[in-house]
Amino acid sequence: MERQLQRLTWREIKALVPGKIDTIIFPVGTVEAHGAAALGTDNFIPEAISLHLAEKINALVAPTLNYGITRSLYGYPGSLTVTPPTFKKFVYEILKSLHDAGFRKVIIMNGHGGNNAALKDAALEYFAEYKVKIAVIHWWELCMDMTRQFFGEHGGHAALDETAMVQAIDEKLVKKSLYSPEMAYEFREGADIYPVPGTILLYEKGQGYPSFDPEQARRFKEKVQEEVESFVKLVLSRWEQI
Ligand SMILES: [Zn+2]
Repeated sequence: MERQLQRLTWREIKALVPGKIDTIIFPVGTVEAHGAAALGTDNFIPEAISLHLAEKINALVAPTLNYGITRSLYGYPGSLTVTPPTFKKFVYEILKSLHDAGFRKVIIMNGHGGNNAALKDAALEYFAEYKVKIAVIHWWELCMDMTRQFFGEHGGHAALDETAMVQAIDEKLVKKSLYSPEMAYEFREGADIYPVPGTILLYEKGQGYPSFDPEQARRFKEKVQEEVESFVKLVLSRWEQI
């Protein structure tokens, strides 16, 4: 069935929520430079994970929030941002309206590290106020161990892992011909730099350079989907017991 809220009519929602479906997945990202991958990488990935997950847990998917808090890559062409208080308030008011629309469980699927702190705060305040159960998933952090096992090395921002995900979603979102290893900056403790001197940010020296292997990308996307699905199912089953 159709899982995207905005593709359904109000009469269909009336028949579904909350009696047949009480869970909504809300993808959140940002627009920022991502090496050889498209500016919307942090939106496309959580959206794809959400659409897959919705089938598995009988949820609907809210429209993706495509604007977030871009920090160290602000200043690269095409990167966009909003300030943290604006972002947090906007997210909070969307969550409030999801409650008003009848949803009783919310899964925020986050695609962008700059959003983490604001989403965490908004979610805690939201639960305290509305008693809607809420989980914020930062997919790349949740999948970090699996990612390392899968590739045999660490990933990073716009690195091996994110580039593979977005390549598996739509190969046109990745431009191998525009890639060069000099796009990468191996992150070092002891320096905060704006803009950061690379659009591919690596956590471990010499690890995480994009591979552009379509078959590997396809398998990685499946692994990420499985990892997120099994974790969210665990959370939902524990919530059932409360
Ligand atoms: Zn990203």
